Amino acid sequence: MKNKCFCDTGLPFEDCCGLYLENNQKAPTALALMRSRYSAYATHNADYLLETTHISERPYYSKTEILKWATSNKWQKLEIRNFTENTVEFKAYFLDSNGKSQTHYEFSTFKQENNAWYYVDGKFE
Ligand SMILES: [Zn+2]
Repeated sequence: MKNKCFCDTGLPFEDCCGLYLENNQKAPTALALMRSRYSAYATHNADYLLETTHISERPYYSKTEILKWATSNKWQKLEIRNFTENTVEFKAYFLDSNGKSQTHYEFSTFKQENNAWYYVDGKFE
Protein backbone atom coordinates (compact mmCIF):
# COMPACT_ATOMS: atom_id res chain seq x y z
CA MET A 1 0.00 0.00 0.00
CA LYS A 2 1.52 3.28 -1.12
CA ASN A 3 1.01 6.38 0.98
CA LYS A 4 -0.68 9.31 -0.70
CA CYS A 5 1.31 12.47 -1.02
CA PHE A 6 0.75 15.27 1.49
CA CYS A 7 0.29 17.88 -1.23
CA ASP A 8 -3.15 16.66 -2.29
CA THR A 9 -2.46 15.56 -5.88
CA GLY A 10 -3.86 12.13 -5.00
CA LEU A 11 -0.61 10.57 -6.27
CA PRO A 12 1.52 8.23 -4.15
CA PHE A 13 4.20 10.17 -2.22
CA GLU A 14 7.03 8.30 -3.98
CA ASP A 15 5.68 9.35 -7.41
CA CYS A 16 5.00 12.93 -6.32
CA CYS A 17 6.95 15.07 -3.83
CA GLY A 18 9.01 12.05 -2.77
CA LEU A 19 10.89 12.38 -6.07
CA TYR A 20 12.22 15.76 -4.94
CA LEU A 21 12.39 15.23 -1.18
CA GLU A 22 13.97 11.79 -1.18
CA ASN A 23 15.33 11.06 -4.66
CA ASN A 24 17.24 14.29 -5.30
CA GLN A 25 15.29 15.15 -8.45
CA LYS A 26 14.69 18.82 -9.21
CA ALA A 27 11.10 20.02 -9.24
CA PRO A 28 10.39 20.82 -12.93
CA THR A 29 8.01 23.73 -12.28
CA ALA A 30 7.34 26.40 -9.66
CA LEU A 31 4.08 24.63 -8.82
CA ALA A 32 5.82 21.27 -8.27
CA LEU A 33 8.39 23.02 -6.09
CA MET A 34 5.69 24.71 -4.03
CA ARG A 35 3.90 21.39 -3.52
CA SER A 36 7.15 19.73 -2.49
CA ARG A 37 7.85 22.54 0.00
CA TYR A 38 4.46 21.94 1.60
CA SER A 39 5.31 18.23 1.83
CA ALA A 40 8.67 19.23 3.34
CA TYR A 41 6.82 21.05 6.13
CA ALA A 42 4.65 17.98 6.64
CA THR A 43 7.71 15.74 6.88
CA HIS A 44 9.80 18.28 8.88
CA ASN A 45 12.46 18.48 6.18
CA ALA A 46 14.05 21.83 7.07
CA ASP A 47 17.15 21.16 4.96
CA TYR A 48 15.02 20.89 1.82
CA LEU A 49 13.16 24.08 2.70
CA LEU A 50 16.43 26.00 3.06
CA GLU A 51 17.97 24.48 -0.08
CA THR A 52 14.94 25.45 -2.17
CA THR A 53 14.89 29.03 -0.86
CA HIS A 54 16.65 31.40 -3.25
CA ILE A 55 20.18 32.16 -2.08
CA SER A 56 19.41 35.91 -1.84
CA GLU A 57 16.69 35.18 0.74
CA ARG A 58 18.40 32.36 2.65
CA PRO A 59 20.06 34.65 5.25
CA TYR A 60 16.57 35.63 6.51
CA TYR A 61 15.72 32.06 7.47
CA SER A 62 17.08 29.78 10.15
CA LYS A 63 16.86 26.02 10.15
CA THR A 64 15.80 26.08 13.80
CA GLU A 65 12.90 28.45 13.10
CA ILE A 66 11.76 26.46 10.05
CA LEU A 67 11.85 23.24 12.04
CA LYS A 68 9.96 24.84 14.92
CA TRP A 69 7.20 26.06 12.57
CA ALA A 70 7.07 22.70 10.73
CA THR A 71 6.86 20.57 13.88
CA SER A 72 4.59 22.76 16.02
CA ASN A 73 1.77 22.52 13.45
CA LYS A 74 -0.09 19.53 12.11
CA TRP A 75 -0.28 19.95 8.31
CA GLN A 76 -3.69 18.92 7.03
CA LYS A 77 -4.24 20.05 3.48
CA LEU A 78 -2.82 22.08 0.64
CA GLU A 79 -5.14 23.91 -1.73
CA ILE A 80 -3.74 25.51 -4.89
CA ARG A 81 -5.82 28.57 -5.77
CA ASN A 82 -3.97 29.76 -8.84
CA PHE A 83 -0.57 29.56 -10.47
CA THR A 84 1.51 30.93 -13.31
CA GLU A 85 4.96 29.94 -14.53
CA ASN A 86 6.64 31.66 -11.58
CA THR A 87 3.91 32.31 -8.99
CA VAL A 88 1.64 30.11 -6.87
CA GLU A 89 -1.30 31.25 -4.81
CA PHE A 90 -2.31 28.72 -2.19
CA LYS A 91 -3.91 27.97 1.13
CA ALA A 92 -2.39 25.57 3.62
CA TYR A 93 -4.64 24.18 6.34
CA PHE A 94 -3.11 23.13 9.63
CA LEU A 95 -3.77 22.65 13.31
CA ASP A 96 -1.61 24.84 15.51
CA SER A 97 0.11 23.70 18.71
CA ASN A 98 -3.17 24.30 20.61
CA GLY A 99 -5.06 22.08 18.17
CA LYS A 100 -6.82 25.09 16.64
CA SER A 101 -7.61 25.09 12.88
CA GLN A 102 -5.58 27.67 10.98
CA THR A 103 -5.25 28.69 7.35
CA HIS A 104 -2.09 30.08 5.84
CA TYR A 105 -2.75 32.03 2.64
CA GLU A 106 0.19 32.98 0.47
CA PHE A 107 0.98 34.36 -2.97
CA SER A 108 4.48 33.03 -3.56
CA THR A 109 7.04 34.05 -6.13
CA PHE A 110 9.65 31.67 -7.53
CA LYS A 111 12.74 31.99 -9.70
CA GLN A 112 14.46 29.49 -11.98
CA GLU A 113 18.25 29.35 -11.99
CA ASN A 114 20.53 26.69 -13.48
CA ASN A 115 17.53 24.45 -14.19
CA ALA A 116 16.28 24.53 -10.61
CA TRP A 117 13.34 26.43 -9.15
CA TYR A 118 13.69 28.43 -5.94
CA TYR A 119 11.24 30.08 -3.58
CA VAL A 120 11.88 33.83 -3.48
CA ASP A 121 9.21 35.32 -1.26
CA GLY A 122 5.53 35.54 -0.54
CA LYS A 123 2.73 37.98 0.15
CA PHE A 124 0.43 37.08 3.00
CA GLU A 125 -3.07 38.10 3.85
ZN1 LIG B 1 3.16 15.80 -3.66
